[in-house]
Amino acid sequence: MFENAGRTEINSLGEFGLIDHLTQHFTNTQINTLTGIGDDAAVIDTGTEEAMLVSTDMLLEGIHFDLAYMPLKHLGYKAIVINLSDIYAMNGTPQQVTVSIGFSNRFSLEALEELYSGIRLACEIYHVDLVGGDTSSAQAGLTISITAIGKAKKSDITYRKGAEAGDLIAVSGDLGAAFVGLQYLIREKKIYMENPGVQPELEGKDYVLERQLKPEARKDIIEFFNSSNIIPTSMIDISDGLSSELHHLAKQSGCGMLIHEDKLPIDPMMYNPCIDIGLEATMCATNGGEDYELLFTIKQVDYEKLKLNSDIHIIGYCTDQYGSVKMISKNNNEYPLEAQGWKAV
Ligand code: ADP
Ligand code: MG
Repeated sequence: MFENAGRTEINSLGEFGLIDHLTQHFTNTQINTLTGIGDDAAVIDTGTEEAMLVSTDMLLEGIHFDLAYMPLKHLGYKAIVINLSDIYAMNGTPQQVTVSIGFSNRFSLEALEELYSGIRLACEIYHVDLVGGDTSSAQAGLTISITAIGKAKKSDITYRKGAEAGDLIAVSGDLGAAFVGLQYLIREKKIYMENPGVQPELEGKDYVLERQLKPEARKDIIEFFNSSNIIPTSMIDISDGLSSELHHLAKQSGCGMLIHEDKLPIDPMMYNPCIDIGLEATMCATNGGEDYELLFTIKQVDYEKLKLNSDIHIIGYCTDQYGSVKMISKNNNEYPLEAQGWKAV
């Protein structure tokens, strides 16, 4: 099936190269598979004006979370939220989830109850039903795999493709704080490991910590689109960082993206923690992941409608330079934004 012989290191492909490589020989054969691999969710025809949306994400202990600083209840909540975010990124409404867990004997019943209390809270808040899953013991650690199922009117579905030169680029909320929160937690853990007597210094960091430990998916933005009759031309949720997601939109839409550094939405509550930890706010906003905000493009004619929502920020516009993703800095220099990908550890 695959032509390469011998051993190839996964890192030589990168995350997206790997997915492309492994799935290159698959072709969809079912006529109701409207969109398969490559977007935030797959789109399945139901024979009605509404299509079904399906998305899966997996969280692994030691890779995506560290129980030294992530309470189990928060973890359960976050695991649901990040999956729902992919359904919203299609301009859809999530309705059901399945939850599969694998855990070693390090985890007690009480620990799993905590995890599920977070899962339940997210299900209640976002009005989704837990309809199944799988449970297995594991040799080590905790693994959580969630599938979210949702719906959208076919004519409302927003893909990563669809942006055209001249469209405005917008983002909800603010960027980078979840990454700063994570860096804090990592730093405090390290200090604690070296000297268990030292109390963590997390005061005044509530906002960045909450962004990391208790993210929310932007249900409200989808509702705003619906009530304002806005259908974005393309959309993605920001899980891997703004730069990376801009590259996805540019590549799949066949256009370029130009953003302005001074338009990046950065919350004032992020600046001090950022300086304190020695990070640059712009770098956190462009490369930091896990914001779970929505990045989307709209036609210029929709600007007046969009402006009514103060939590949406226009950060740039689409160009006709295929695949080019650039930022104009505060001192007016133009430079390319690199896509940061996941790498094998
Ligand atoms: P997201 O960040 O929105 O969760 P990903 O970057 O994880 O999306 O995945 C990109 C696309 O590749 C999605 O359509 C996803 O379903 C698909 N995908 C990821 N891993 C695999 C895999 N192992 N096999 C098949 N499809 C995959
Ligand atoms: Mg996504």
